[in-house]
Amino acid sequence: MPNILIAEDEPRIASFIEKGLRSQGFTTAVVADGLHVLDVAQSGSFDLLILDLGLPGKDGFQVLEELRGQGEDFPVIILSARSDIHDKIAGLEGGADDYVTKPFRFEELLARIRVRLRGARPVREAQELVLKTGNVMLDLRTRQVKVGDRLVELPAREFTMAEMFCRHPGQVISREQLLDYVWGYDYNPGSNIVDVYVGYLRKKLGSKVIETVRGMGYRLRI
Ligand code: CA
Repeated sequence: MPNILIAEDEPRIASFIEKGLRSQGFTTAVVADGLHVLDVAQSGSFDLLILDLGLPGKDGFQVLEELRGQGEDFPVIILSARSDIHDKIAGLEGGADDYVTKPFRFEELLARIRVRLRGARPVREAQELVLKTGNVMLDLRTRQVKVGDRLVELPAREFTMAEMFCRHPGQVISREQLLDYVWGYDYNPGSNIVDVYVGYLRKKLGSKVIETVRGMGYRLRI
């Protein structure tokens, strides 16, 4: 059975992945600290590494660089909340085989793991450089946003929030997930900043584009 190493410091996410993989017959190990990924990776016979970028001690990019520098060539899938195209490019150029952004569906991660274990060619993320949902189009390279034929200006945070919605069309996204994704962990979770920014996006993308799901969050209409 394939043996998967999970480098992830959030216990909830690590155990979610572990449970899912074990139910599929994989064996797993978790390392929560960037400083120890290399040791653990070299001590066992792992077939694949799932690598978080935001690890304590040493970040995922450094870990990846060291692994590849030492000739470790097993597949690496980066799993990160950072969805910036520059992070993706840096990850793939640094020797990762694939890049999955959080939040993610377990089925998607599993499918990508299976592709890597089959030794298929890396899927570069070219198809994800332009996100299109309904009449909203986001170009991740040029940061251009269009609603129908109309060009819309979105400052950085609004763009990132729009990107999050467009990556998960039709799915409910909680305020916490948006806060985490757009502002990072250190923002006060009691703040209503998410609602304010959803308001900005509605003004620019159209009032019906993002719907409120009572008690749960928001959803991009498809
Ligand atoms: Ca992390």
